[in-house]
Amino acid sequence: MKIFFKWPPNATEEDKKLKDVATSYEGDIYCPDGPVRDDVIEHEKEHIEQYQTMGYEKWLEKCKADRDFLIDQEIKAYTAQLRYIQFHVGMREAKESIISFAKFLICQSEVNQW
Ligand SMILES: [Zn+2]
Repeated sequence: MKIFFKWPPNATEEDKKLKDVATSYEGDIYCPDGPVRDDVIEHEKEHIEQYQTMGYEKWLEKCKADRDFLIDQEIKAYTAQLRYIQFHVGMREAKESIISFAKFLICQSEVNQW
């Protein structure tokens, strides 16, 4: 796994409008705005694990086609991220992060188009 400070090769103009701080592509992590916190890297590592069996392209297609699958994958990635925050930063920060992650997931589940 490598970390690149640029957009992944498959990024579209739409992706760039969303301004993700980090994303993964084919087993590597891309941070277009420069270095990100270690807990964000943990989140992306979890996604990389998730698509080891089915492969990146199939996983991405499934995420786009099946919102429940996408939400499930995100909950697992945020869980890994929270675990990292809890052990390496602190419980208070983990509790604060739970709220912002939950808000993000609620937004994801309410959006009609990906
Ligand atoms: Zn994610």
